[in-house]
Amino acid sequence: MRDKREQMVFDIKQRYGLSSPDVLSAMLQVPREEFIDDKYKDIAYDDTAISIDFGQTISQPYTVAFMTDLLDLTGDEKVLEIGTGSGYQAAVLSKLASKVYTVEIVPELAKKAKERLTRLGYHNVFVKSASGEYGWREEAPYDAVIITAALEKEIPKALVEQTKAGGVIVAPIGPRSSQTMTRFTKMEDGTLKKEEFQKYVFVPFVEKGD
Ligand code: SAH
Repeated sequence: MRDKREQMVFDIKQRYGLSSPDVLSAMLQVPREEFIDDKYKDIAYDDTAISIDFGQTISQPYTVAFMTDLLDLTGDEKVLEIGTGSGYQAAVLSKLASKVYTVEIVPELAKKAKERLTRLGYHNVFVKSASGEYGWREEAPYDAVIITAALEKEIPKALVEQTKAGGVIVAPIGPRSSQTMTRFTKMEDGTLKKEEFQKYVFVPFVEKGD
């Protein structure tokens, strides 16, 4: 599996030109095969998204690497992830930040991810089952927020509020068929500066509303 993981990281570098040594090193350290069902172990390191339960997916390795890269983490940050899924993205982030708080709307997925992350020794990752549209207020503010489900239009207000000035929010935004990876930087006056990247397809962000 280690060989396959090295190959995956090599491909991310060669095929997509992602060169951040820290992100590549984090991807090399996290055993992706531990985050998927046994029946998919053979394709754990393929360049593809893989189904997890409840109609959800663990993102393609490059997508995980790219979103992680957009956060520009240096090791001291407090990060909030919305959409825990398998816990894989959170595990990668845990190698690059001080603490990772992750929120998952499907209770069974949250429970499974929590058990898995504990078993694998990711002690700086904290999992909560709730709707991520409200963030995780008790632990705010965050240096970086990453949303791993597709938002139709805007970042939920609570998530912007819970981001520090100077902090970033990364999310795929757009209609069901395809979303644009977007990075917002929260300015001192509270406004957001927006940068847009490639197109992706994510599972939808479920909004409960108030
Ligand atoms: N980051 C995950 C993959 C995310 S798939 C991994 O590394 O495996 C998207 C996840 O977002 C799904 O598990 C879905 O249930 C969850 N989700 C969708 N809407 C949500 C919401 N409003 N709050 C929290 N989680 C949400």
